Amino acid sequence: MFENIQVAPADPILGLNDAYRNDPNPNKINLGVGVYKDELGATPILKSVKQAEERLVETEKTKSYLSIEGTEAYRNAVQELLFGADHDVITKQRAHTAQSPGGTGALRIAAEFIKKHMPGATVWVSNPTWANHQAIFQSVGLEVGSYAYYDAASKSLDFEAMLASLSQVPAGDVVLFHGCCHNPTGIDPTTEQWAQLAKLCSKQGFLPLFDFAYQGFGSGLEEDAAGLRVFLDQVQEMLIANSFSKNFGLYNERVGAITVICETAEHADAAFSQVKRCIRANYSNPPSHGAAVVTEVLTNPQLRSLWEMELQAMRTRIHEMRSLFVSTLRAKGVEQDFSFISQQNGMFSFSGLNPDQVAQLRQEFGIYIVGSGRISVAGMTKDNMEPLCEAIAKVLAN
Ligand code: PMP
Repeated sequence: MFENIQVAPADPILGLNDAYRNDPNPNKINLGVGVYKDELGATPILKSVKQAEERLVETEKTKSYLSIEGTEAYRNAVQELLFGADHDVITKQRAHTAQSPGGTGALRIAAEFIKKHMPGATVWVSNPTWANHQAIFQSVGLEVGSYAYYDAASKSLDFEAMLASLSQVPAGDVVLFHGCCHNPTGIDPTTEQWAQLAKLCSKQGFLPLFDFAYQGFGSGLEEDAAGLRVFLDQVQEMLIANSFSKNFGLYNERVGAITVICETAEHADAAFSQVKRCIRANYSNPPSHGAAVVTEVLTNPQLRSLWEMELQAMRTRIHEMRSLFVSTLRAKGVEQDFSFISQQNGMFSFSGLNPDQVAQLRQEFGIYIVGSGRISVAGMTKDNMEPLCEAIAKVLAN
C-alpha cells in the first residue's frame, strides 16, 4: 500500500540543521535555524527556568491530565503578558486563552477553527513569511494568499504596497500579522503604521490573526506588544497565537497559547467552546511541564525579575551582534551597505545574499544560511564574526 509514496522534500530550515550537524568542518557556522545562542554558541537553560523547575519537582503532586485548555493560572498569566493587567479585553472577559504545544500548535488550532467557522476564508500572509505558515493553513484545506511587505531594493517595509494589498482583502478573510520581530525580514511596522493597519482592518472587515513568537526579543515585553494592543483599540475580534519557545528558551517543551477575542463575553464563551473542540479532536489536552514553568516564572516576583533580566541579556546580545556584523563587514572591505541589519528586530535578517552566494558560503566555508538569504543573527558570536565576515567578503567580491 505504501510502495508508491514519494519522498517528501526536506524542510528548508530544519533540513539545513541536519546538514550542519553532519558537516565535519571544525569551523562550520550555523546561521540557519532560529534558536538563540549565547556568546559561547550554546543554547543554555535560563536560570529562571531552572529554578522554577526545581520548585516544581518539590511541589508537583500529580501527573494527571490537564483540562483541554490548560491551567487557569497559565491562561491568566499569558493574557496579562499579551494585553497588560487591566486591559478591557480581560476585565470584560472578551478573551479566552488555551495552552497549546508551542506557537505552531496554536497556529494549527487557529487554522482548524478558521476552516470550521469561516469556511470560505482565505488566509493572507506577508510576502515573505515564516516558511511553515503556508503549510499549516493549507494542511487544513484553507486557501493562502500573500500581501506585499518587503521591498528588496530598499531593504525596508514597503508600507504603501502593504496598505494597497490589504485594501483588496474582502470582509471575512483572515490576515496574519507578525506581532513583532518579523520572520524572516526583521522589519516591523511602527506604532503609527500599526494604527493605520488597524484602521484599514476595521474598514475592510477582515479578521486579524497575530503570530506572536518573539515577545521581548525586539525592544521589550511591553513595547513588542504595542502592535497587537493598538489593533485592539480599533477592532473587536482577533486571534493570537503566541509562543514561549524563544523568550523562555523552552523550545523542546512546546509551550504556547491560542487566544480568541470577541466583541462580548457571550460570543467569547461560544467561540472558545469551539476552540476547545478543535483541541480535543487534535491532541486532547496539552503537556504540563513547560506551561507550569512559565506560570511559576511569570507569577513569582523574584523569578519574574530574573527572567526579565535574562531576556534583556539575550536581546542586548543580538543587538550587539548586529552592530558588530555591520562594522566587521566594513572592516573587511565590503563596499555594499549592510547598515540596514543594525536597524532590524529579533533574531533574523534578510541579508540580501542570493542563492548562489548562500550555496558558496556553505560549500567553501561551512557557513549555513537559509536559501532565501535569511540569517539568524543569534548564531553569531565575537569568535565567529571574523571568519564569517571574511567569507562573506570573499563571496561578494566574486
Ligand atoms: N511563528 C513564527 C514567526 C516563528 O518564527 C516560529 C518559530 N520559528 C513559530 C511561529 C513557532 O514557534 P514554536 O517553536 O513555538 O512552535
